[in-house]
Amino acid sequence: MAILAINGGERLIPPNTVKPWPPIDDVDRQYVMASLENPNHTFGPNCQKLQEEFGAWNGNKFVIATNSGTGALHMAVAAVGCGAGDHVLVTAYSWSSSATCILHHNAIPVFVDVDYDTMNIDPRKIEAAITPQTKAIIVVHLHGLAVDMDAVMAVARKRNLMVIEDACQAHGATFKGRKVGTFGHCAAFSLNANKCLCGGEGGLFVTNDEEIHKKALQVWSFGETRTPSQERDYHAYALGWMYRNDDLGAAFARAQLTKLDGYIARQRENARVFMDELKGVEGFTLPVQPAGHEHNWYNLNLRIVPECFGLDPKPDGGENSAKISTWRDRILKALEAEGVHTFMWQRFILPAMTVFQAKNAYGHGCPWTLPYTGPVDYDVHQFPMAQAHTDRHLCFAIPLRAPNGKDVAKLTAQGIRKVFDNIKELDLQRNPPR
Ligand SMILES: *Cc1c(COP(=O)(O)O)cnc(C)c1O
Repeated sequence: MAILAINGGERLIPPNTVKPWPPIDDVDRQYVMASLENPNHTFGPNCQKLQEEFGAWNGNKFVIATNSGTGALHMAVAAVGCGAGDHVLVTAYSWSSSATCILHHNAIPVFVDVDYDTMNIDPRKIEAAITPQTKAIIVVHLHGLAVDMDAVMAVARKRNLMVIEDACQAHGATFKGRKVGTFGHCAAFSLNANKCLCGGEGGLFVTNDEEIHKKALQVWSFGETRTPSQERDYHAYALGWMYRNDDLGAAFARAQLTKLDGYIARQRENARVFMDELKGVEGFTLPVQPAGHEHNWYNLNLRIVPECFGLDPKPDGGENSAKISTWRDRILKALEAEGVHTFMWQRFILPAMTVFQAKNAYGHGCPWTLPYTGPVDYDVHQFPMAQAHTDRHLCFAIPLRAPNGKDVAKLTAQGIRKVFDNIKELDLQRNPPR
């Protein structure tokens, strides 16, 4: 038996083994320096080219480069025709802006629990959440695993819902061989530095629908009605925001786009090596990749199995959940002591976040108090699967990304194996959580 590093044993992974994301090389330097030397530093030629190149890469007719994925999501909510007080369905477990983008347009999120295997919205639970006010649904391809878009589009067609894909984490993920961002009426990608395509900050709105593209453009830039190539008349035709990006960030993103296929291939290879190394280790489950879905492995999540620690596995959101997550904290610290890069991705399910519980985004309880809307219920007990996942997960990202290779992926898995093979040393049972 090895002594865990947290108990004074030798650390398994030496410092500086894991290299940071994203890798930077001369391609990036050339693109960014060329942009710097060009006099157009606002929405310039690199922004235009990024739109064309991403559209060609992903298979979208229309692309709008934005200053964030969140901005692109707000544009999507507006562009599919959601208005004040309308209800928009969204998964109960994601990044906050998958749901706050709905509030940004004065519409109201209605949460749907996740499927416990995939962590994505459970398509079987969508219909029951539809209200007379429901206009649209936002599906999130979480951690880079595509949602079952056949099931979602079938419900959407039957119930006349607009479909927005939050693909901020899912560049290159496919469902039945087709890339995400091409299934719904429109989609949003992020170019934030953590995401698979890095522009520092930034985003991309994509659609194949000309009308939706026009509406999104208006929201994007001051309510003007023009395309970037048309002359401006400096008139606000409707309520707009300022979601344009800048040329330097777009140049960086273009350089990274030339390497994106290689990055995704690396993530897939590293994920395979990592999971192979962890087969048969007890104490957690490995993520699933259902047939027809090809993950991009933006994040890879393990899930603690509470039975292994003598706890009732029922995801009840109650006392057991609190215990499981406290024990998870201690496992996390033991992993960190071995030099394993790991973190908790989300500590709260979305409906539990104060912005929703308070039901007062704009003052006077708006938009929930609008006279022509209907009631929504944010009782967190409606989302036991999302809660169970939140409490149990451990997230891995950087060791599985370029420039890190199979050696780092394997070493990271060995660090995890060491902690779980020697979990008795953590005395989880005898030292109950404080
Ligand atoms: C990162 C992220 C966003 C927001 O993207 P930004 O570019 O940071 O605004 C939205 N949804 C999901 C699922 C994300 O991971």
